[in-house]
Amino acid sequence: MGKVTGFKEFPRSIVPYRNEAERLHDFNEIFSVGDTKHLQTQGARCMDCGVPFCQSADGCPVDNLIPEWNDLVYQGEWRAALDRLHATNNFPEFTGRVCPAPCEGACVLGITEPAVTIKNIEQAIVDRGFTEGWVTCPPPQKRSGFKVAVVGSGPAGLAAADQLNQAGHQVCVYERADRIGGLLIYGIPNMKLEKALVDRRVELLRGSGIEFITGVNVGTQVDIAESHVNTIMQEMGSPPRYVPVEDLQKDFDAVVLTVGATTPRDLPIPGRDAKGIHFAMEYLTRSTKGLMDGTQTAISAEGKRVVVIGGGDTGADCIGTALRQGCTSVVNFELLNRPPADRGPTNPWPQWPLILRSDYAHTEAKHKFGDDPRSYSLLSKNFLTNDAGEVSGVRTVQVDWSTPSEHAPFSEVAGSEKDWPCDLVFLSMGFTGPESALAEQLRLEKDGRSNFLASAPDYQCGSAPIFAAGDCRRGQSLVVWAIHEGREVAEAVNRYLLDATAENRATAAR
Ligand SMILES: Cc1cc2nc3c(=O)[nH]c(=O)nc-3n(C[C@H](O)[C@H](O)[C@H](O)COP(=O)(O)OP(=O)(O)OC[C@H]3O[C@@H](n4cnc5c(N)ncnc54)[C@H](O)[C@@H]3O)c2cc1C
Ligand code: SF4
Repeated sequence: MGKVTGFKEFPRSIVPYRNEAERLHDFNEIFSVGDTKHLQTQGARCMDCGVPFCQSADGCPVDNLIPEWNDLVYQGEWRAALDRLHATNNFPEFTGRVCPAPCEGACVLGITEPAVTIKNIEQAIVDRGFTEGWVTCPPPQKRSGFKVAVVGSGPAGLAAADQLNQAGHQVCVYERADRIGGLLIYGIPNMKLEKALVDRRVELLRGSGIEFITGVNVGTQVDIAESHVNTIMQEMGSPPRYVPVEDLQKDFDAVVLTVGATTPRDLPIPGRDAKGIHFAMEYLTRSTKGLMDGTQTAISAEGKRVVVIGGGDTGADCIGTALRQGCTSVVNFELLNRPPADRGPTNPWPQWPLILRSDYAHTEAKHKFGDDPRSYSLLSKNFLTNDAGEVSGVRTVQVDWSTPSEHAPFSEVAGSEKDWPCDLVFLSMGFTGPESALAEQLRLEKDGRSNFLASAPDYQCGSAPIFAAGDCRRGQSLVVWAIHEGREVAEAVNRYLLDATAENRATAAR
């Protein structure tokens, strides 16, 4: 808890983002630095509620010890707060920036008053830890003799590698891109997560004994077009090398797949083949790689009218990127209805509030063009093209979700067709699961949503020592869930290896 009467004395006050007028001119982080006194006052609002739902199944997925570190911050015990934070979360500098904070949706104070600013406090603790030089990652004192390969270097792979290494196993992480980090690097754009922060953590992990190998696609040569990462790496001069998965199975005692859910959902409507229509990740990956390499990106929104189809983080990041590149307009289509301003009766506390939220990019678009870029209940019917085969617009129709039709849970509103002129379209309608090549090669079973089937708590795919975690197992999700799964799969692999040791000892003794 913080101060006994803190929640009565102090209103919620978040650390603001840099203002739009300034941040739209660069790709630097949108965050400003919180004042220490301000953060301590906000920590004082944590109210000794007795049953901290912020840590429950509806709250923080990594079970962060939130009331403990809120209190420590209030007391000015920043170093102790950092230790408590790292006890459950390998990478709070990432979640403190990009997590949507389900903890705040479940905060008990949130029943009657605005919730505690948990995410701001998390970021402040870890940022201070790095500034003070308190964050270290020493190698384990003893090695187990077991070797584990981790395929994919997103937050799930990094958390698994960190935990397995700390348990004494020798860990090697394979990544097909030219940089380590998965969507932390080539996905979430710089303004939400500065890439130097990812590199800083990777260097700490490397120093603790984890080996990282980039530019290696584990599996057989796949159709390069099947993977936007491979295509872009090839196009920009760093094509991946293909390493057969059998090599890993021979050389390691266990293989952990954390390859993400990278197959994008397509929109196969007339005109889809027109030039200027791209999957969101083809756009965002090129943009970040261009920024990091100091080269021009092949897909730029400069001087273009942009349509983003689909919302979520990916849609917002396309808008934020297009604005910074200098687009002349941007609109965003959502098929679903506009969410309500407040929780509905079927969405009570402590559930995640399904309400209208304005992300950084939405307020930026409004600042630049005067309007919220989002339009709801819109179905894209076809793309319009010009004589050069380029996209020149999108035709939409309004849908009515209260009257289902024969083929869909909605009906189209007669006479509501509208043409939206544009030069670039980004498709951001979610992902349908991991790519198929590795699954086919390893004959992995899939679940009903085409993710790798590897049930908790074993996270094992069948009987071989192959494990899966993160988005490739649970579907496209959140960084905090990926960290949770990475920690859990590490525990499962550790159990598996210790059981194998015990069995070997028993066999030797017989
Ligand atoms: C644009 C975008 C924005 C997002 N914004 C947020 C946000 O603000 N907050 C949030 O919490 N979440 C956000 N997410 C979701 C979050 O990034 C993911 O849930 C998370 O990164 C999943 O982690 P992962 O480790 O499972 O997989 P990933 O991060 O996808 O990493 C998988 C890695 O495996 C590599 N790989 C795949 N196949 C192979 C192979 N055969 N051999 C070698 N390497 C391979 C890939 O190149 C990739 O680097 C966002 C996602 C996107 C796409
Ligand atoms: S990781 Fe996310 S849910 Fe957990 S405390 Fe931080 S902001 Fe809240």
